Amino acid sequence: MAESALKRCGLCGFARPADEPACRICGGAQFSAGSELSLPHRLVAQDRWQDAFAYYEDAVVRDPANSDACLALAWLAYAVRDFRAVEVWAHESQRQDPSAPHAHILLGIALKSAGRWEESIQEFDAALSRLGEGDPRRAAVTAHRIEARGHLPEWW
Ligand SMILES: [Zn+2]
Repeated sequence: MAESALKRCGLCGFARPADEPACRICGGAQFSAGSELSLPHRLVAQDRWQDAFAYYEDAVVRDPANSDACLALAWLAYAVRDFRAVEVWAHESQRQDPSAPHAHILLGIALKSAGRWEESIQEFDAALSRLGEGDPRRAAVTAHRIEARGHLPEWW
């Protein structure tokens, strides 16, 4: 697949074919162009998820403090709906880099898809408090938060 036929997802950061309307990992429809794609991102875009998972697992073995690799493993686990692994890897990523919003975004989306509305809202709030005002991910996180809030009673 030609590099030019790939774009980077604006929410999870993984690559996807430019002609696909939604991200295969997080379901996001927002994407950014331009930046170089890494080997594991290209593997995901080619549906070689096992190879990408092995790549990141190896990265974590070599450097357990690699929060980006932990986060990538969490997103891949989310893509195959392995929620236990999502929580393990997202929490590990958070532990390595507590000020980063990314793991909170992923946990919010995962908890929302499991119908755990209150917990997902807490994660989205934690993400929003860590995202800069101009961050393009704010809109997607806010939309997820509104959707989760809609499942709760008025008085909550
Ligand atoms: Zn995505």
